Amino acid sequence: MTAKIIDGKALAQDTRQEIKQRVSQISKNQRVPCLAVVLVGENPASAVYVRNKIKACEEVGIKSLFEKLPAETSEKDLLSCIDRLNKDDTVDGILVQLPLPKQISEQKVIEAIRVDKDVDGFHLINVGALASGLDGFRPCTPSGVMRMLESINYPLSGKHALVIGRSNIVGKPMALMLLEKNATVTIAHSKTVNLKELAKSSDIIVVATGRQKTLTADMVKPDAVVIDVGINRDAQGKLCGDVDTEAVMQIAGHITPVPGGVGPMTIAMLLVNTLQAYERKFKD
Ligand code: NDP
Repeated sequence: MTAKIIDGKALAQDTRQEIKQRVSQISKNQRVPCLAVVLVGENPASAVYVRNKIKACEEVGIKSLFEKLPAETSEKDLLSCIDRLNKDDTVDGILVQLPLPKQISEQKVIEAIRVDKDVDGFHLINVGALASGLDGFRPCTPSGVMRMLESINYPLSGKHALVIGRSNIVGKPMALMLLEKNATVTIAHSKTVNLKELAKSSDIIVVATGRQKTLTADMVKPDAVVIDVGINRDAQGKLCGDVDTEAVMQIAGHITPVPGGVGPMTIAMLLVNTLQAYERKFKD
């Protein structure tokens, strides 16, 4: 049996289409939503991510405001840029591309963003809201994964879900979202000793380690759902995930590809969060 592919690209396209329609409706009698994207420095990967996010906004009619700051920007200057965006009523969402240069505390910057403009969902209040099961912005990558699971109507309740990786951006919020849907969740990390055993007993495995072939075919139980969050380059420079996809496909029931899986969904969910930030503002 070969696993069914969960096509993140197509699903993201559907999501973007829905947003485009909503924004087009809005534009008839109101200003359109606006996302401010802040990039500090010249990190080439960050520049690509930012470009893709701005392009995605343009495609659905969301306005973007690009704030590009030099690598030597001080923490104080970045905080005043955020303060200005916080106060700007025409800005609905603020995204500061991570990582930031060494002289700047990422946590301080995240905490400086207004909670109701924190479309990345990294602010402590949004993190706390997720942990407490309250409304708030949810981080885009795990939200995208949840949409992918919904797209296959996967019944999460009572299933054993393994999340490999415990970062604040992916692993931890992912585990909380799966728990919210009544999965029995295990979180693994670099110190986990029995990863193979845990994986082998899991119905869903989300891999977010940034290490190629973290998950191999001998670790997967037949019919499992495998979600590959990783973005790596193989020895030939080709984009690949954290899963040994070709081999795992022979065992798993569903699998997400890299590229064309979680990546496009992450950007789509950023648009969803930006639209939500806008709509909440006008609801109040
Ligand atoms: P981090 O480096 O912050 O976290 C990696 C996690 O994996 C850590 O918790 C680490 O454990 C764990 N880990 C590392 N090696 C192993 C191992 N051999 N076995 C088990 N656990 C291990 O990465 P991120 O969470 O930010 O990102 C993970 C991957 O996802 C990266 O490739 C990143 O590029 C990609 N990514 C993709 C996105 C997308 O849109 N597709 C969005 C965000 C990230 P420990 O805590 O013990 O160190």
